[in-house]
Amino acid sequence: MYHNEHQNCWQFEFLFIFDGIILKNLSPSFLAPTQSWTKLGKPFHQFVNSEELPQPYWIVKNYALAQQLGLPSDWLDHNQTLEILSGNFAASSDVAQIWPIQPTASVYSGHQFGVWAGQLGDGRAMLIGEVKGGQEIQLKGAGPTPYSRRGDGRAVLRSSIREYLCSEAMHHLGIPTTRALSLVGSDLMVMRETPETAAVLARVAPSFIRFGHFEHFSFQNNHQALQTLADYVIERFYPECQLATAKQEIYSQFLSAVCHKTALMIAKWQAVGFCHGVMNTDNMSILGLTLDYGPFKMLDGFDPDLIFNHSDTNGRYTYNQQASIAFWNLHCLAEALLPLIQDIDATKNALETYREVYSQAFLHEFGAKLGLDELTVTENDRPLIHQLLRLLSEEKIDYTWFWQQLAQTLRTNNASHARDLFIHRENFDVWHALYLQRVQSLNLNNILSTMGKSNPRYILRNHLAQIAIEKAQLGDYSEINQLLEVLHNPYQTHSLYDDYARPAPAWASSIEISCSS
Ligand code: AMP
Ligand code: MG
Repeated sequence: MYHNEHQNCWQFEFLFIFDGIILKNLSPSFLAPTQSWTKLGKPFHQFVNSEELPQPYWIVKNYALAQQLGLPSDWLDHNQTLEILSGNFAASSDVAQIWPIQPTASVYSGHQFGVWAGQLGDGRAMLIGEVKGGQEIQLKGAGPTPYSRRGDGRAVLRSSIREYLCSEAMHHLGIPTTRALSLVGSDLMVMRETPETAAVLARVAPSFIRFGHFEHFSFQNNHQALQTLADYVIERFYPECQLATAKQEIYSQFLSAVCHKTALMIAKWQAVGFCHGVMNTDNMSILGLTLDYGPFKMLDGFDPDLIFNHSDTNGRYTYNQQASIAFWNLHCLAEALLPLIQDIDATKNALETYREVYSQAFLHEFGAKLGLDELTVTENDRPLIHQLLRLLSEEKIDYTWFWQQLAQTLRTNNASHARDLFIHRENFDVWHALYLQRVQSLNLNNILSTMGKSNPRYILRNHLAQIAIEKAQLGDYSEINQLLEVLHNPYQTHSLYDDYARPAPAWASSIEISCSS
């Protein structure tokens, strides 16, 4: 591997050779060496070596994403690409000579389950490069790093499939997220509760910087590094903040902008019933992206207090808690940025952005689910939304299915589609009368169109992921691809696969989700 810390491999011009054929010199268009995270150097990250993954094989490839990244159309079909995306660039002399990849792992800290956890870092993730448009490619599970602590640096096939499927599902639901470029498997066994096979996920994002990166340098009182980090993120992702007149104001505006993005993301999570299972500050993206899919859950029955992650014994990360936990996490970020903002009131004001934006975003997201678009929904509609959510939670009605059936009541002018889901139908009737009163003067086509764009028919239900995982563990990846086909267009009806839209079967409640991954 390449250990020369003074070299930035991405600055090289090199020939891209696949299977012995010189395609062309791809480096200028394919790689974007300037401004990259890697160039920031120490103390933000360390150069690392990936560990060989024995006899890797493809499990899923994301051709559409590869194309969006400007990668050659057949890039994912080459053996060298398999070596690269499994982390075998050091072992493969072909790749090492052609593409001298120098992976890096970055350092961060964080609050885990509400408690300061100290230094964490990329324990099993490494950045392998940056492609056109400034998107970074990170391998998850390609071996230990200096931040692995007692971990093996690996990820299991089970959790990697969950991350691949869910990150792609979230993207196609219109929710900001990291993406999945490929998943590579191997017969290598790693030990979790039981022995499981390992996998390497290639994931993509403009940046994987977390709240925890800021907390790390702030906690160390390394204000120079803290400022370098903030300036890097602002210049690259929040340039509008640079217009502030005073230096400190740049940082309070930055905090406010992160609050804004986070609020929009959480409102979208709530609207589709997504719950992040480990909303620790080290899993919070500074870009407001959904990051680090571990023990997540898309709610089946609407049970806002459901503890779905068995490692979350106190229920810190239930559906009902997510919006306030995000605010709590933003307070940790604010505290970390205080040495730069240097003004408590400005910091508090910036934090208020979260509450304001979240409140509006919530109204817009849930209004749209009821068919009330942004121009139609008003503050007066909040009680209607809250009453409905209470009703759904009282009977734990299947969340995604309910919205489909509600649209059906309007389409057919027959309340029974939604009404029959309830045991206490009289309670639904009271709410439904209010709803019909609210929408009666509005255009039905507009309502249905708004509902159709806001209520997915298909979400990554836990049992669907489980079926795909169990098949994949036997070497059959067809279910993953079939599921992805549906999740790529979650708002449309796929008549061939419409079973995927159905509420979960009884056995789904026995699926255990934990931090083990
Ligand atoms: P997570 O709960 O997945 O967000 O991980 C928390 C921390 O533990 C991060 O620093 C991870 O990099 C690290 N970590 C988790 N699993 C492993 C593993 N198998 N090997 C090394 N580090 C790990
Ligand atoms: Mg994490």
